[in-house]
Amino acid sequence: MWEWYDWRRRVIHKAQPNAGHRALVALEDRIAAPGEGSFTLVTQNVDGLHDGAGSRNIVKLHGDIWLVRCTACGALERNKDVPLKELPPRCRCGAILRPGVVWFGEGLPTEKWELASQACARTRVMMVVGTSAVVYPAAGLAELALAARASSPSSTLSPRPWIAGPSGCCGDRRERSCLDFCEDSGFRIQAGADPES
Ligand SMILES: [Zn+2]
Repeated sequence: MWEWYDWRRRVIHKAQPNAGHRALVALEDRIAAPGEGSFTLVTQNVDGLHDGAGSRNIVKLHGDIWLVRCTACGALERNKDVPLKELPPRCRCGAILRPGVVWFGEGLPTEKWELASQACARTRVMMVVGTSAVVYPAAGLAELALAARASSPSSTLSPRPWIAGPSGCCGDRRERSCLDFCEDSGFRIQAGADPES
């Protein structure tokens, strides 16, 4: 298991945030500016690229591949070693560490889920980006936002037609149109150019 994670960490280590990550940073800068509102980025990504791009208020529902947790004492710490110094890595207490991510079949961390739920329940605008939004429980966050704000201006961005509700939806628009959507919503976004495009 750790050999696979060590390989995956090496691959991710070489990856760079893309224009999508940077657009979300620009959005956070705009929305969470002093005297403005708040911005919460809820993600199922574990690769740390949102952190690398500069996003600040991130709720990681599936954990973080750069965290390790002790299988015995529960100690959680950041580990950026690439490659890992020993396989499997061990805690100071001597027990084996595991990756700080949520595995298939495990529940989402309660604290993270509550942070995400609270943010969705009070949001005015929600964008669902880069996910098909079909896997629950995370897919339920958009429904939660719509239910909580059914009579207020809110919008979601998703290929899923059911997300369209009485509060408005920009429908089946994807990728680049995410930025158009932000502009249409009154947010001026200046994302850096994607070096690969
Ligand atoms: Zn330990």
